[in-house]
Amino acid sequence: MEIARMISVKTEEEMEAMRRVGRATAEVLDVVCRAVAPGVSTWDLDQIVAQEFKIRGAESASLGYAGRTCPFPAHACFSINDEVVHGIPSPGRKVYAGDILSIDLVGRLGGFMGDSTRTVAVGAVPSEVNLLLKATEAALYEGIAVAVPGNRVGDISETIESYAKKYRLSVVRELTGHGIGREMHEEPAIPNWGRKGTGPVLREGMTLAIEPMFLLGGDALVFSEDGWTVRTADGKFAAHFEHTVAVTKSGPEILTALKN
Ligand code: MG
Repeated sequence: MEIARMISVKTEEEMEAMRRVGRATAEVLDVVCRAVAPGVSTWDLDQIVAQEFKIRGAESASLGYAGRTCPFPAHACFSINDEVVHGIPSPGRKVYAGDILSIDLVGRLGGFMGDSTRTVAVGAVPSEVNLLLKATEAALYEGIAVAVPGNRVGDISETIESYAKKYRLSVVRELTGHGIGREMHEEPAIPNWGRKGTGPVLREGMTLAIEPMFLLGGDALVFSEDGWTVRTADGKFAAHFEHTVAVTKSGPEILTALKN
């Protein structure tokens, strides 16, 4: 009960603001993912993110976000191949056919945040890499499906973990999903591993960033000296998919879904 009280529950008005920023974030992520092609630099993609947020009256909440050693220096995180999260874009960091690129955006609009990530294949990739992407994305939707009032965080965690096991993939254990709202990272932490029936109870009005990160190899990670980039210790590929989701009485509502 103590923990549940610390988790923010949004009013209907706040939920409307969460929908607006979620929508903007989804649209920007879609535009930048469509711009991914062999030879493009992550720096150029980051400029697209800045511009597309601006067009929508929003801004990046990642730019200047306080880190272990320095503020995050770009508008989005671009993580290539064995980079799991928090890759920093630069003009020299380009993607080529056979690479995978995860683009992680946090938008801010009207005082609220939306957080969404997609990992895309650049050109053709080996079938095991395709399976990694498909399984991670499918696990996200499986996890979202159990984000309903009365369930617990552990229901999301075990659902995601069991999906990884089914496909013989590893789960990142040192990074988690999180509550989100006025702050990028709110309570509760949402691990991608755990046991059903454990953890904080989900209630109507909570907004959660659910984000499975699956690995082709082992789960050991290396935290880079740049203070941000996290990569796999064995150099094998990592995939990451994320949505911001509202827990509502009529079921989970994906706030960062693309609407037609
Ligand atoms: Mg997140």
